[in-house]
Amino acid sequence: METTVVVRAIAVPDDFVARMRIAEFDDFGHRIERLRSRERGNPCRSCLRLSEPGDELLLVSYRPLPDTSPYAEVGPIFIHRRECVPFQGEFPDDFLVRPLVVRAYDRRGWISDAVIAQPGEATEAAARFLSREDVAEVHLRHVSYTCFDFKIVRSAA
Ligand SMILES: [Zn+2]
Repeated sequence: METTVVVRAIAVPDDFVARMRIAEFDDFGHRIERLRSRERGNPCRSCLRLSEPGDELLLVSYRPLPDTSPYAEVGPIFIHRRECVPFQGEFPDDFLVRPLVVRAYDRRGWISDAVIAQPGEATEAAARFLSREDVAEVHLRHVSYTCFDFKIVRSAA
């Protein structure tokens, strides 16, 4: 069966990002770390771009799912310390060069399936999962560090 699901990437919510930029502690009681990127590479989970050397970053804990099941993992993410342009679109260019873990979640927030996508193939893998009735959303993660990167959902359009 041909998949025709139109998808879009969802960055970390703007209100969460705004809150972290002025807070001293994150939602899990950890002191928010402020650091400067030494190289190109740390992805900001708001603009979904890899940091450039010298970029000021915040390191905070984030839980991409509501806290309703054992699958609601908490983990570290980077956010630009200063305002950046939140990502909107199907898939962020800076993530096309990486292999990614693609995890499908059901409506309860339980993992229903997962694959490793090769560079440039994560959109297709996400669309394939989202063509299934039991899948509510898809999460993209770093393939070895396994940190949460962003979500992919069915586009409302
Ligand atoms: Zn950013």
